[in-house]
Amino acid sequence: MSRLVSLLLALLLLGGCIPKSERRPEKEARVPAAATSRETLQCHANLTREGVKFRALPDQVFAGGCSALGAVQLLDIGTPVTNLKAMTCPVARQFARWVREAVQPAADAAFGRSVVRIESMGTYSCRPVNGQAGKRLSEHGRANAVDVGAFVLADGRRISVLQGWNGEDEKVRRFLRDVHGAGCRRFGIVLGPDANAFHRDHLHFDMGRGPYCR
Ligand SMILES: [Zn+2]
Repeated sequence: MSRLVSLLLALLLLGGCIPKSERRPEKEARVPAAATSRETLQCHANLTREGVKFRALPDQVFAGGCSALGAVQLLDIGTPVTNLKAMTCPVARQFARWVREAVQPAADAAFGRSVVRIESMGTYSCRPVNGQAGKRLSEHGRANAVDVGAFVLADGRRISVLQGWNGEDEKVRRFLRDVHGAGCRRFGIVLGPDANAFHRDHLHFDMGRGPYCR
């Protein structure tokens, strides 16, 4: 319990260092729920009901204010996804729903093909926002975010955010904007190539403060 208190203190202190102008006005960040909390257990039940295979991970607190609380390892969401590590249960659940309810139907509509692999660019990572020293802790530092770089279709075609977002192919551009927009209805914050140069090659989804969709 004392580790959790230190974590909370660290987050408070961290918050105190952030210039006001850099804070988002909508809502303060909230610490993810612990592994044994009612919220997390309810989330596990939802995942199971929705046919998602996962493994619950023990709470972990790291140096630098980083943590993985109430996190899961997704094992099978119906579509293979590379490079997924610890994710808070709410992010994992929304991610699985996004793949099932938005990505697959959008690929079918745009290309007449299903997505056979999604290339993630990671989940937990202890780093500041945009990897820039001095910025506040990224939601990745709380295992509360996931980055997606590309989608591989059943015919082997690879749709990447880097090449497709502003590429020549209208269908690809629409597909990427469709799945970005669908993310905005499920996650707290969604960032893509239109947000800033740091996101030119991936879509970022997190369950931190929000809503923010760009
Ligand atoms: Zn990210």
